[in-house]
Amino acid sequence: MSNIAHYIKTCGEITKSKGFDTTQHVKQLLLIASEVQEAMEEIEIEIEGTHGKLIDIIASFEYDMQSFEYNRKKHNLPENSKIVNHEHLMEELSDILIRVFSYAYQFDNGKPLIKALNKKIAVNKERPHLHGKQF
Ligand SMILES: [Mg+2]
Repeated sequence: MSNIAHYIKTCGEITKSKGFDTTQHVKQLLLIASEVQEAMEEIEIEIEGTHGKLIDIIASFEYDMQSFEYNRKKHNLPENSKIVNHEHLMEELSDILIRVFSYAYQFDNGKPLIKALNKKIAVNKERPHLHGKQF
């Protein structure tokens, strides 16, 4: 068993043993998104001398990275970001993985996720520099 298969199995089994139902797709994806939001709360950014949490600022930029980058460049704003609390950020990134692994476990013990992950990594490895992205 690969390490990632081990983590998927462990997260899936713990989540199930605690009584959580991971078959509600919308709920699961929103829970994953909520962990991303919590990670964003651990990033502080400075725009034109004003400090704020990324989550508060990005909400005013339509809560969307592409829109955020478009507006940041349009207004010629630097991206002066820093981590508020590194340990908390790592905890939130762990929460994201746990949510993803717990959700994916129900699908053939996470095998399709591992297959898709390997495929995406191989595709990303072959892509050109920035491959059309502005950021
Ligand atoms: Mg969290």
